[in-house]
Amino acid sequence: MSQVRTRVAPSPTGYLHIGGLRTALYAWLFARKHGGRFILRIEDTDVAREVPGAKEIIYSTLREAGLYYDEGPDVGGEYGPYIQSERREIYKKYAEELIRRGAAYRCFCTKEQLAEARAAAEARGETYTYDKRCLRLSEAEIQRRLDAGEPYVIRQNIPTEGETTYTDLVFGDITVPNADLDDNVLLKADGLPTYNLANVIDDHLMGITHVIRGVEYLSSTPKYNHLYRALGWEIPTYIHLPVVMKDKQRKLSKRHGDASYDDFIKKGYLKEALINYIALLGWSPGTEQEIFSLDELIEAFSLEGLSKSPAIFDVEKLTWMNAQYIRALPKEEFISRAMPYFKEAGVAHMDLNLIAELIQPRLERLDEIPPKLAFLTEMPAFGPELYAHKRSGTDAAKALPVLKEARAALAELDEYTVDSLKAALNALVEKLGVKTGFVYWPVRIAISGLEVTPGGPAEIACLLGKAETLSRLDTSIAELEKQQG
Ligand code: GLU
Repeated sequence: MSQVRTRVAPSPTGYLHIGGLRTALYAWLFARKHGGRFILRIEDTDVAREVPGAKEIIYSTLREAGLYYDEGPDVGGEYGPYIQSERREIYKKYAEELIRRGAAYRCFCTKEQLAEARAAAEARGETYTYDKRCLRLSEAEIQRRLDAGEPYVIRQNIPTEGETTYTDLVFGDITVPNADLDDNVLLKADGLPTYNLANVIDDHLMGITHVIRGVEYLSSTPKYNHLYRALGWEIPTYIHLPVVMKDKQRKLSKRHGDASYDDFIKKGYLKEALINYIALLGWSPGTEQEIFSLDELIEAFSLEGLSKSPAIFDVEKLTWMNAQYIRALPKEEFISRAMPYFKEAGVAHMDLNLIAELIQPRLERLDEIPPKLAFLTEMPAFGPELYAHKRSGTDAAKALPVLKEARAALAELDEYTVDSLKAALNALVEKLGVKTGFVYWPVRIAISGLEVTPGGPAEIACLLGKAETLSRLDTSIAELEKQQG
C-alpha cells in the first residue's frame, strides 16, 4: 500500500459536532496506525452557511482533542491550498476538462424553468431529475449564449443506462442504476464548485487514499466515481461511517442544536473521556475493553471493527466514562483541570488539596463543582429540622448545648487542620460520653447548612478557617436560641 493519506473535511458552519469529530478521529487513527498522513481541508463553498470564526474553532478543537493534522490551512503542506474557496481556478479547470471529455455540460436553464420542470414531474408523481435539455444545445448556440453573457452552471453528464457499483469497506457492495442519478450541478453560476465536484478534485489532487466520511455520501458516491473515471483517476478506498443518533428515532445534528465538542467541554466533560467515548460510536475493539487512551486507540483501531448500524449517543454512558477519567486523574492534574470551576465557586484560595480529596472521587462532571461547593462561600439558609438525625440520636433541641460546647472547643484551637479539628471534636464526644454522630451531625449542619456535604465537620471547618467557622457556629446557635425561646 502506498502511503496512507486520510482527511477530514468539515464545513465551517459552526462548532465541530460529534459526528464530525468522530470522522476526524477515525481518519486520524487510521493514518497514525499506518504511518500515514492526516489532512484537514476546509469545505467552505457554501458561502451562505459559513459562520465567522468557525474555521478557527475547527483548528483549535482538533488540536485540543490531540488530533494533530500533518497538513492543513494553518499548517501548510505540499498539496494546498487546503481551503476550498482558495481553489476556484482548480475546480474551473477540471470542470472544463470534464466538458471536453463529455462528462459534463453547460446548462443555461433559469431557476424558473427548473422549478417548472420540477413541479411538472411532481404533478406526474415522478421523482424529478434534470432532463438534460442543455446537453442538446449546439456548439453555436452555446457560444452565442456565452457571448451574450448568459449565466450558466456546469452539470455532470451521467449515463442514462447501466449501473455503477463500488465496494465500501463498511457497507459492502453498493450498486446504483445510473438512471437514478441526477445530472447535478458541479460548478455553480458564481464559479464555486459543489461538493460533488470539489470532493473528487481535492481528494485526488491531495492524494487521499482512504476517504472516510459519513454514510450520507454512500449512495451518491457512484456519481463521484463517474468523475474519477472520466478524468482517468484512481478511485480511492471508501469507508462510510454509520449515523450517530440521539435516540432510536432522531439523528444527532448540529443544525438542531445538539451538543458540540465545545458544549461538552463546557459541561465539564474531559476531552479524553469524550474522545474515548466517541471512538466507540460505531467502532468496537472486539474485546471488553472500554477505556482507551489515544495511543491505545491507535494500537487497537482497525477497519474491521467498524459497524454499519447506527450508533446511539448515550450521554449516560459518556458520563459514566467521564467519572472514570476524573477519578483517574493525578491530584495535581485534577486541580488544574478543575481550576476554572473552583474559581467559579469562589474557593480557589482554599486548601485545594483537601477539596480534591473530598470531591474528586464523587464527581461525574467538573461542572458539578460550583453547586457542590457553593456552601463554602455562602452559608445556605436552613430550618431546624435539619438537626434531626435518627441514627445519631439528635435533633434541634439536643443540638443546641452540643453546639455551645463545640463552639468553645473550636475557639480554643489555634491551628485548624483536619487532624486537630477531629481531635477536638473527638475529645468532646469523649467528654460528653455520646455517639460520634451526636456531635458531628449538628456541627456539620451548623457550619454548612446542608444535609449532604463533601467531607465532615472537621474537613469543612478546616476549609472555612477559624474565623468563618466560629462565626457560622455563632449564627446557628443564635438562631436555635431564638427558635427555642
Ligand atoms: N464538508 C462535508 C461535511 O461537512 C465533508 C464530507 C466529507 O468528509 O467528504 O459533511
